[in-house]
This record gives sequence, C-alpha cells and structure tokens, in this order.
Amino acid sequence: MSLQSSLSEPTSQIHDVIVIGSGPAGFSAALYTGRAHLDTLLITGYDLGGQVATTWEVDNYPGFPKGITGPDLVERLQKHAEQFGARVEMDLITAVDLSKRPFTLTGHNGNYHARALIVATGASARKLEVPGEKELTGRGVSYCATCDGWFFQDKEVVVIGGGDSAMEEGLFLTKYASKVTVVHRRDELRAGPAMQKRAMENEKVHFIWDSVVEEILGETAVQALKLRNVKTGEISEFATDGVFVFIGHIPNTQLYTGQLEMDDRGYLKPDMRMRTNVEGVWVAGEAGDPHFRQVITSAGMGAAAGMEAQRWLDAQGTWRG
Ligand code: NAP
Repeated sequence: MSLQSSLSEPTSQIHDVIVIGSGPAGFSAALYTGRAHLDTLLITGYDLGGQVATTWEVDNYPGFPKGITGPDLVERLQKHAEQFGARVEMDLITAVDLSKRPFTLTGHNGNYHARALIVATGASARKLEVPGEKELTGRGVSYCATCDGWFFQDKEVVVIGGGDSAMEEGLFLTKYASKVTVVHRRDELRAGPAMQKRAMENEKVHFIWDSVVEEILGETAVQALKLRNVKTGEISEFATDGVFVFIGHIPNTQLYTGQLEMDDRGYLKPDMRMRTNVEGVWVAGEAGDPHFRQVITSAGMGAAAGMEAQRWLDAQGTWRG
C-alpha cells in the first residue's frame, strides 16, 4: 500500500474516536463507534488489514463454515465499518501524545486529534535475528507464504517454527513448492493437534527436529541454511531455495512506551473493559492480547472497546459537537 495514495488530508478537526489499526480489532471497533453515530476515523497503518490480510484461509471465524480468505475478510470488515459511517485514512502514525486532551497523533500526512483513542495496532512477525536474514529478505527470506509462495513453484523451501502459523503456512506452501522442510528447535510441535495431523500427513512436508538456524547463506538469493542441532551441537548446511519464518510475533506498541502500561514483552495491558491506564484510551486485538490472538477474539475486543468508548464519550457529554 502506498501511503502517498491517501484519500484525504488530516485537518485540525477533533474526531470523537480515532482507531489506529486496520485489522479485525480496528474495523470492529470502528463499526461499533460508527454505528453509534460517533465521528470515527480509522487510520490504517502501513499494512491494510494487518496479519489476517496475509492469511490464505481463515477457517475458524464464525459464520463462514467454508472458510474465507484473509483479504476477502478484510474487505468485508472495511465495507461494514464504512457502511456505518467510519472513515478510513491511509496513513502511518509515527508519534502519539496522550498527555493532553484532545489526544494528538502525528502521521506522515500530518496531525490528527481525538477525544477517544482505540489502539488496535496488532503485532508483526518476529525475526530470527541471524546473519543473512536482513540482507536476503525479499530474496528468498519471507514472513508471508500468501504473499511470496507463488515465487517458489516446484522449488524446495524451509519453514522455521513449530506453531500453528508455521504448520498452516507450510501447508499452504505445498501448493507451490515441491518440498517443504519444517525446522523446529524442539522435538515436538507447539501447533494444535488438528494442524499437526494435517502437516504430518502431507507427503510434501518433512521435519528437521531440535535444530536452529545459525545463518542464512546466499549471495544474491537464499542458497542454504547453516543449522545447529541443539542436542548434539552438530553444525550442518541445508540447501534450500527459500526460507519462511513463522516464530511468533512482536506487538506494535513501541509508540506508547512511557505512556501506556505494557508487560515486559511490550503487550499493552487492558482491563476487562479494554481500558488502558490513560482514561479515554482503549486497546483491542493482539497489541493487548498475548494469549488468544485469534481473528474472532480480536474482533470481540474491538467491539468491546468501541462500546466502551461510546459509553465514556456519552458520559462526558462531549460527543456530537
Ligand atoms: P507461537 O504459537 O508462539 O509459535 C511460535 C513457534 O516458533 C514455536 O514453535 C516456537 O518454538 C518457535 N520459535 C519462537 N522463537 C523462535 C526462535 N527464535 N527460533 C526458532 N524458533 C522459534 O506463534 P504462532 O504459530 O504465530 O501462533 C500464534 C497464535 O496464533 C497461537 O495462539 C496460535 O494457536 C494462533 N494461530 C492459530 C491458527 C489457527 O487456529 N488456524 C493459525 C495460526 C496461528 P517453541 O515451540 O519451542 O516455543
């Protein structure tokens, strides 16, 4: 998404509610505040739709028994929020000031002001932090099978990680790749039983256990991985055309350091009503949820945050002008 393609410029207008983030949490919050006739602006962030937009198939969102693709779900969420009056702005917020009211947010397109703020900034893929990773990202190193799988038709790829994401994305990659080798640092998977079964039963999926990546090798493109067996200490090279990393996520909350309470991993700490330690600021979705991290739970948190913002603004008597 190009941020240059912003649909409208920010003004000195004070919005009732600004929602930061365009995943299921953000759009659900905006749907609720829009439906409550609050002047709602949703600021998308760099990636419209967040993580779910890069998911091939969501098969556990209620109401879609046949599953739905991530991009399709995002499109529907956006349409639904806009139908109730929420406005969507493509911009990336780079600073927030929660010390004064209205709150001020600074983005590439200028400043925004809000009486109430809902933080739904989600989380981003965790990196391996090994030599070669940064240099070869986009040249065989990827964090998104849906985005990049197509480039690996009939090639051999490696998936790093043992969770549901690694299995799900690895299975997706079997549509293109001739062989998918999962490298996991233990000898048992973290993924749930159903996902494990599907991966184990797929003849294209192979496993290397008890191993971590020491280095990603290649001049202009990925050629091999240097692996270390954590039990024997043995170092080996494993030739591959690509490496897909799915080792968890880091919450996108850096902007709020020193302003909103967070745990030692950076997750914001909402109470049961999605409230943060700053009155008038709520959090929804993975930015404040290290535990469930599902589309449905994020959407639920968004709806709750939207309802709470509406009740709070109502009690303040400040909304609708
Ligand atoms: P996750 O469950 O935290 O799994 C991360 C995996 O990466 C673990 O296997 C972990 O190993 C490994 N790992 C972490 N750091 C590593 C490192 N530095 N080097 C090598 N390996 C490393 O993350 P996730 O798979 O992204 O899933 C996140 C949440 O979303 C989970 O609750 C999951 O159930 C959910 N999810 C659900 C679905 C679905 O239901 N369809 C799909 C995707 C995700 P260890 O096992 O040794 O810790």
